Amino acid sequence: MDINDIIAKLHKLDEQSRELDIPEFERRQMMQEVQSFTDSFLSALPEQKVYSEKKPTSLAVSGTKHSIGSLLELYQKEVVETGIKAASGNFMGYIPGGGIYAAAMADFIAAVTNPYASVYYASPGAATVENEVINWLKTVFEFPEDAVGSLLSGGSISNLVALTAARDAHQIKNEKIKNSAVYLSEQVHHSLQKALRIIGLEDIKLRYVPMDSHHRLNAVVLAEMVEQDVQNGIYPFLLVGTAGTTDTGAVDPLNDLADIAQKHKMWFHVDAAYGGFFILGSRKHLFKGINRADSLIVDPHKGMFLPYGAGAVLIKDKASVLHSHYYTAHYMQDAVADELIQSPANISPELTKHFRGLRVWLPLQLHGIEPFKACLEEKLLLTEYFRIKLKELGFSVGPSPDLSVSYFWYPFEEDADTKNRQLMDIMHAKGDVYLSSSVIDNRFVIRIAILAFRTKKESVDRAIEMIASSLESIRV
Ligand SMILES: *Cc1c(COP(=O)(O)O)cnc(C)c1O
Repeated sequence: MDINDIIAKLHKLDEQSRELDIPEFERRQMMQEVQSFTDSFLSALPEQKVYSEKKPTSLAVSGTKHSIGSLLELYQKEVVETGIKAASGNFMGYIPGGGIYAAAMADFIAAVTNPYASVYYASPGAATVENEVINWLKTVFEFPEDAVGSLLSGGSISNLVALTAARDAHQIKNEKIKNSAVYLSEQVHHSLQKALRIIGLEDIKLRYVPMDSHHRLNAVVLAEMVEQDVQNGIYPFLLVGTAGTTDTGAVDPLNDLADIAQKHKMWFHVDAAYGGFFILGSRKHLFKGINRADSLIVDPHKGMFLPYGAGAVLIKDKASVLHSHYYTAHYMQDAVADELIQSPANISPELTKHFRGLRVWLPLQLHGIEPFKACLEEKLLLTEYFRIKLKELGFSVGPSPDLSVSYFWYPFEEDADTKNRQLMDIMHAKGDVYLSSSVIDNRFVIRIAILAFRTKKESVDRAIEMIASSLESIRV
């Protein structure tokens, strides 16, 4: 092409490609539409059904232009109005999320400014925000200053990174894999078994330790199991404790587990994805020993009520983390290692990533920590309130939970499982409040998980009313 052709062509392309850089006036107009959309979403939220069985039908990417208004309309119909409204206070299934507004603003700012948070040199400010969030988490869980950590997409990836560090610290490879054992309870989150498979430890021995009547891992039996394995020449590699089990809200006896791990020089991993932030309040005593873990994960998108997409991992053994994620690291001097860990990319499988630090940092700095603590305490009390009310209605309830997940069933004289399942189906069809079910001790049970920041006494009362009226319709 001759230079004039190139210039003419560039001119034409410029006109088209410029559309991606929306001018200020249009930006304001569009943002106004977006803002009024999200405002209506929020104001309608408390009274709306929290669950719909409707499925989306017209979300295929067309490659052609649409107005923001028509796209918001489509989003409303096909995304907002299908499935579970996880932003609602009436969502009490699985482990509720949230979506505090300050974090949404932070995401917006992070996306518009788009700093490269992964490498200190590229954005010392953004990398420092990430690192300061990790430092704050270290103080929350009383981890040493020289521990390292990463902000990841969630608990599953955080577990994966922690177990990778454990594997490398203990050099679990080749023949050693099938002669090593991992100790865990049946209540561990399945992302741990999944992580073991992903990191090549599928053939490791999984030792499921029995639990006590509160679904906490039984440390006495654990100690015996480990001794037995050691006698049989099995290498005790990893012990997993859970601080807040997903199904039953139990906190394992972490300090006892830490003793056993220490005695046998095992890697002690604590999964605090759901329960971790309850350490900030009245249940702190349950977390005794958590600071003795070699690695720990916690999900700000659960207990800090952030929008989905924020997990965190803390790991004490810097060298093993650098070994997995920065391969020449163990030949480096400490000073160099200190510089290395300023860049999030060196301690994470991710290089380029969303600047997640801001969505944790900004809400904490904007609100201070107190409203977060109050919100968590409120959830604990609401759980107690709910259990008392359900017992009054004649329901059987599971053991009193350590945190804010509890389960219950109606003691029908016959076909209890079938009828409780029916009860669950009726509640899902009503959709006023969303609860989920599980099978615990071979019994079909209905779970309530109270963690959404918008869940208030009114939402719990609404759940109780829905449960009562659903029960009536079965009895009739
Ligand atoms: C939710 C949860 C996970 C998985 O976290 P994601 O953020 O969903 O990937 C792991 N462990 C526990 C205990 C959890 O509650």
